Amino acid sequence: MNGFGRLGLFAMGIVTIMMFLPMALFPQKTERDNLLSGISSGKTRVLDLSYAINDKLVPWPGDERVFEAKINATVEKNGYFTRSFWMLEHYGTHLDAPVHFPPGKTTVDQIPAKQLFGPAVVLDVRAEGAKDADYRVPAARVEEWEKKHGKISEGSIVLLRTGWASRWPDAQKYRDQDAQGKMHFPGFSAEAAKLLISRKVSGIGCDTLSADYGASEDFAVHHLVLGAGLYQLENLADFREVPEAGAFLVVAPIKLEGGSGGAVRVFAIWQ
Ligand SMILES: [Zn+2]
Repeated sequence: MNGFGRLGLFAMGIVTIMMFLPMALFPQKTERDNLLSGISSGKTRVLDLSYAINDKLVPWPGDERVFEAKINATVEKNGYFTRSFWMLEHYGTHLDAPVHFPPGKTTVDQIPAKQLFGPAVVLDVRAEGAKDADYRVPAARVEEWEKKHGKISEGSIVLLRTGWASRWPDAQKYRDQDAQGKMHFPGFSAEAAKLLISRKVSGIGCDTLSADYGASEDFAVHHLVLGAGLYQLENLADFREVPEAGAFLVVAPIKLEGGSGGAVRVFAIWQ
């Protein structure tokens, strides 16, 4: 082959690399574009994982005053309608900001917006929870998920699906308190929490009253997770339709300055 031919081959090689370079650099672009543009066309599923707020939701035991709304203006009297409301920061579907438990520091308004978007990792423990209300998801259960779907990527949001959402809003069934007042519902184990923290996830969530299991007395998961700067989503509405892998979450908490947490809208999108 003469020098000219070699040059031609070299040029063709460069052109080929240039053609495929964008695909190599942005392999997810088309997929993500489809996911977002598919929302308006209906190709992408959108599920709201938040309960509507009223005064009849299941409060933490001992919380008596939970929510109040007052009408300030009516169309009849004022020509427009407004209300004012009061509520606990930890009531209904809500977010626990890191500052909620030591050694966490970040308040709800300070959580970086980037941390509020991420792939959903769903750990489905409905069968285990039905057998044992005190079930704590072991780290091995997280590893089992990874064997099926690959290593949990940084920035993921890990949701625990216990099936307890089906008991909402029946306080008795949802809290499942015994004669001593101790609650019984599944939760994350401290070991699973440690593994998820090491995977650098953005947050964890559950369809129960607490990320710790109901009978917990030391709130080990709260201390670990919030202490590591992650957030927790509690009392998520029924998300049985969300796939174990492949969905994307949008977490939109109230931007309450200095707040320990607050009401949150959580949306799952997937195709
Ligand atoms: Zn909370």
